[in-house]
Amino acid sequence: MSGREEHRLVVRYLEREIAQGRASLWEAAISAARRDGVKDAPAPASATTAATTSARATSIAAAPALAAIDLEVESLLHDGPQARPGPGDPLPGDDLAKVAAEVRGCTKCGLSGCRTQAVPGVGTGASGIVFVGEAPGAEEDRRGEPFVGRAGDLLTKILAAMDERKLIPGVSVSRESVYICNVLKCRPPENRNPLPHEIEACSPYLLRQLAILRPKIICCLGKFAAELLVGAKGTIASMRGKVYRFGSAKLLVTYHPAACLRNPSLKRPVWEDMQRLAEEYASP
Ligand code: URA
Ligand code: SF4
Repeated sequence: MSGREEHRLVVRYLEREIAQGRASLWEAAISAARRDGVKDAPAPASATTAATTSARATSIAAAPALAAIDLEVESLLHDGPQARPGPGDPLPGDDLAKVAAEVRGCTKCGLSGCRTQAVPGVGTGASGIVFVGEAPGAEEDRRGEPFVGRAGDLLTKILAAMDERKLIPGVSVSRESVYICNVLKCRPPENRNPLPHEIEACSPYLLRQLAILRPKIICCLGKFAAELLVGAKGTIASMRGKVYRFGSAKLLVTYHPAACLRNPSLKRPVWEDMQRLAEEYASP
């Protein structure tokens, strides 16, 4: 990468810092960048008052170019992937049953019109492990439970194998001891991909579930969960094998079991990712 390209990446990174409200870091970094002769660095605020800083944060946050900041920038500029703020504290009195009841009655997007029933999630927070998939399929829509079709059978087998091999010493791994849910709680017609406005409408339910569960570790199954919770676009190949943070939880990414059914050679990397999950579970 040329020096100039590198500078541009640094500037894009800094723009994101301020968009995320880390304005003082921004100020410091801009001064440092200008001192080091980075020509692209914006002029520092003449008066670094909170007001000017936050006004600039707002205008830069609105810049559509920001959305394009990607994982490559992340790994270039950090030792490891960036921490994300996470779901925050649960709403007072909120619990999984309450979220599930709201999901079952939800009409926030068009998928409410074609579902048999909504599929809020299954399991418990007992182990502190949460698996997040994409959206219910036909069988899930029929039964109201996530991962009970062909892909679900594979996930259940993976959990059983983790348990049998005692991958996490002293921790039982089963559909009952982990929590399993999806980004979308209703089935898209013909199992098509979730649409951005559906993800936007539905993701608050997932965030509430995660806030309530306070998991130790989150495993994203497939691209839609991964991109939503990592907060960046990317392929599973580029995101797996890293440990992200989502609030207080560690977050890992692996291939969706349905992808393993289509391409059995993905089963090995998924198993490696489960071994990594177990290691990360056991370490602070
Ligand atoms: N695929 C998913 O992503 N979720 C399910 O619940 C079933 C299949
Ligand atoms: Fe509501 Fe989510 Fe179902 Fe859309 S997919 S209707 S947002 S529960």
